[in-house]
Amino acid sequence: MIRNLAKLNKTIGTRFYQTSSRGSFNGGNNGKTAFKSIIGASVGLAVLFAGSSLLDQEKQSEPTPIDVKEKKPQPPKTKEEYQRKMDEEYDIEQFKYVIIGGGTAAYHAIDKILENDKEATILLISKEYDVPYQRPPLTKSLWATKDDNVVNTLDFSDWSGKKQNLLYEPESIYGNDVLQFIRTKKVVDLHIDEKLVLLNDGKLIRYDKCLIATGGEPRQLKFTSTNDKKISTYRTVDDFRKLYEFVKDGDKHVTVLGGGFLGSELTCSINANFQDKNIKIDQVFPEPGVLSTLFPEYLSKYATDEIVKSGVKVHSGTLIKDVVDNSENGRLTVTLNNGESFETDHVVVAAGIIPNTNVVKSTSLEIDTVNGGYVVNPELQARTDLYVAGDVASYYDFSLGVRRRVEHHDHARATGEMAGSNMSTKNTPAPYTYQPFFWSDLTPGVGFEAVGNTNSKLKTFSVWEKPSSDDSKQSYTKGNIYYLNDNNVVVGVLCYGNYGKMDTARDIILKRKVVQDLNQLQHAIDFDEHH
Ligand SMILES: Cc1cc2nc3c(=O)[nH]c(=O)nc-3n(C[C@H](O)[C@H](O)[C@H](O)COP(=O)(O)OP(=O)(O)OC[C@H]3O[C@@H](n4cnc5c(N)ncnc54)[C@H](O)[C@@H]3O)c2cc1C
Repeated sequence: MIRNLAKLNKTIGTRFYQTSSRGSFNGGNNGKTAFKSIIGASVGLAVLFAGSSLLDQEKQSEPTPIDVKEKKPQPPKTKEEYQRKMDEEYDIEQFKYVIIGGGTAAYHAIDKILENDKEATILLISKEYDVPYQRPPLTKSLWATKDDNVVNTLDFSDWSGKKQNLLYEPESIYGNDVLQFIRTKKVVDLHIDEKLVLLNDGKLIRYDKCLIATGGEPRQLKFTSTNDKKISTYRTVDDFRKLYEFVKDGDKHVTVLGGGFLGSELTCSINANFQDKNIKIDQVFPEPGVLSTLFPEYLSKYATDEIVKSGVKVHSGTLIKDVVDNSENGRLTVTLNNGESFETDHVVVAAGIIPNTNVVKSTSLEIDTVNGGYVVNPELQARTDLYVAGDVASYYDFSLGVRRRVEHHDHARATGEMAGSNMSTKNTPAPYTYQPFFWSDLTPGVGFEAVGNTNSKLKTFSVWEKPSSDDSKQSYTKGNIYYLNDNNVVVGVLCYGNYGKMDTARDIILKRKVVQDLNQLQHAIDFDEHH
């Protein structure tokens, strides 16, 4: 549990605003009234900041008709007064910090704000029902619990056997005078000059500082069948719940479209944990092998072979041409571009994400036309008092000398922290210079950590631990792969089966040293046991 949020729970206690069903928080049992009552403290703050005028008004008795006649309404004298009148008239609530998006970047930003600003009033707005949670276990450990109640508890054991929960913090930590949460509502516009956020229910909220942490939306593909119960994407905990409920009783066929991280991890997890329940999986992707934009060709082939060996039917170099409802048996018929076809019960489309840059309509923010996402400066600002973090941020990577957009957990955590810190610090905001790492686990023998630019199109140099003498078959257990640019400078490192080496790898990248002889890299990262 994160320190500052935990502290918040202890010091101020929590108020519960339960909804009767999995519906909207704001429109649930307590609805608008509950929401308004829990921000009592923040309204109080606004009054104090604005001077005594509102408090004075409250004390005054009802004006007589004569009073009204004599006192002509005065136009607002200051911008603040105008704003206050407008906020009253339109029922606009104000928060010091408004965080759009309820994911990893948002969570870590809030934690930093709570650390820096003891007078923070924070509003978190998320399209999702669930309070912030980590996504990596959705394709990994959550499938391995052997407990069907996992869809409710969201409890799992991590790689070290430690018990964890998917939610960063329990529900009870949200919904108090300091930290509010609006769930299942979408921000549809930002009026940047007015510092207003517009929700899809028409509600306006004013902010002093705002963070856009809206991540990405799974890419959808069009097929003849439009049955969204049988053709789904996969990104949220709700997607996990639905898919788990679908496969848990066994005797089903699932098709996974995609050979990247998400598609491959999901394929491997379902296969490893539900094969004994007769869950069969076909994985289809256009690349020659899994993770082929990352792994050198030989390793992508090896990893694909491992997946095949584990019982998955892999269709590499193949596209799904169409998915059609089979009215005779209620299943789906999948047709591939090589002419093959097969029947399936469910298709999961894991074809990448599109960054969620649809929250600003009234004004424009610069969009990175190459990488997608909102362009930010080194302090992660898109405009004054408007910050962007996580998957949706396009930033300049100082150590690699390129503009990038990164779709990984550690980057969302680090940019969230940095944005939250810059939003709430009294000091000069700091630039984001961190080099984030990422990881993936497929089969027990295929897992890695990596940092920097690990594009398989770059020149690579691989160093593998020598197999033990009795190991006759070709297998890759522990290795370090270095990715070099045209100047022979290491720009990325992937440590395969060799964990805990990311600091060393990061140092190598930061040195930007020209590698004269590739053999110099032989011992750059060791193969010591880490855990
Ligand atoms: C299944 C899965 C497994 C992963 N595994 C790994 C892994 O092993 N290693 C790794 O490094 N990375 C992994 N990732 C990637 C990592 O989880 C993401 O990079 C990270 O979640 C990005 O965080 P974020 O806060 O930027 O966005 P998100 O976590 O996507 O959060 C964005 C939030 O904003 C909300 N939102 C969007 N638009 C609006 C709007 N207009 N109004 C209100 N709310 C909105 C969304 O609903 C969402 O709640 C995985 C991702 C997935 C989906």
